[in-house]
Amino acid sequence: MGGKNDAVPENQPRIDPVLGTTVHIVGGRQTRPNLPDNRSTTVCPFCVGGLEAPEPYETRWFVNRWPAMDGDRCEVILYSPQHDASFASLGTEGIARVIDLWAERTEELGHRADVDFVLVFENRGASIGATISHPHGQIYAYDHVPARSATLLGPNGWALSLDERLIVARNDTMLAAVPVAPVYPIAVTIAPTTRVGRLAELNPEARVDLASMLADILGRLDRLHDEPLPYMLWVNQRPMTDGYAEAWLHIEIVSPWRAANLPRYIAAAEVGAGEYFNPVVPEELASRLSALGETDPT
Ligand SMILES: [Zn+2]
Repeated sequence: MGGKNDAVPENQPRIDPVLGTTVHIVGGRQTRPNLPDNRSTTVCPFCVGGLEAPEPYETRWFVNRWPAMDGDRCEVILYSPQHDASFASLGTEGIARVIDLWAERTEELGHRADVDFVLVFENRGASIGATISHPHGQIYAYDHVPARSATLLGPNGWALSLDERLIVARNDTMLAAVPVAPVYPIAVTIAPTTRVGRLAELNPEARVDLASMLADILGRLDRLHDEPLPYMLWVNQRPMTDGYAEAWLHIEIVSPWRAANLPRYIAAAEVGAGEYFNPVVPEELASRLSALGETDPT
């Protein structure tokens, strides 16, 4: 009995001694607020004048009051002062402002001595755990490179999995494609067409292309079922440590919906065996998203 986890302090991740799985124990987050919803905008902490946004802003960041990790490693990014906006509805110009802030915070956090990897992400929709509806994302700054990120950004990384048949849209510098073997029923990856390691390395034109592609794809995803799609979105960027010269920036967007308002739950055999059963054929998803056509710019 026992082993290397015997004296793990509460703020240190635990490593499963057999599987190697990393688990952060975050008991303190049970007390974080689940309010407000759209019916109580007056107390929204993210609206101008609210707790986290005392002054007018276009985009804004602050340290998360209910962090999943200690040491100012968790930040919140406000996309817009408009409570009822969505990321997609900000249009190219609004999304480009968010990308600029993502890039700035990534570099600022990433250049800390105690940070090896920065993950920018968003949970959209109450059904996948967003506790406040005001459009926002988050950032986690890790003191190590998480295993999945390390694989995708390593020497045999993401670009090897790109399949031309599954490309949904392209513009001058960006493409969007359905992954070959997605775990989730809906999955789209957006990436530059030539290798770029981090957001900060995108020139102004490429940032606008990325914003325009995000607006287009998120718009298509909302039109797929004629309902705002709950999704998880995250940005895979080159870690701050050596060994990732070939990392290729890409943004993953996934949703558990296999039909409108019908989530597919990851079930016992999948959790148990670590192999997944996806009822949506990736080629069909790519055709449907292509057929929807480009989202009208807002
Ligand atoms: Zn709000």
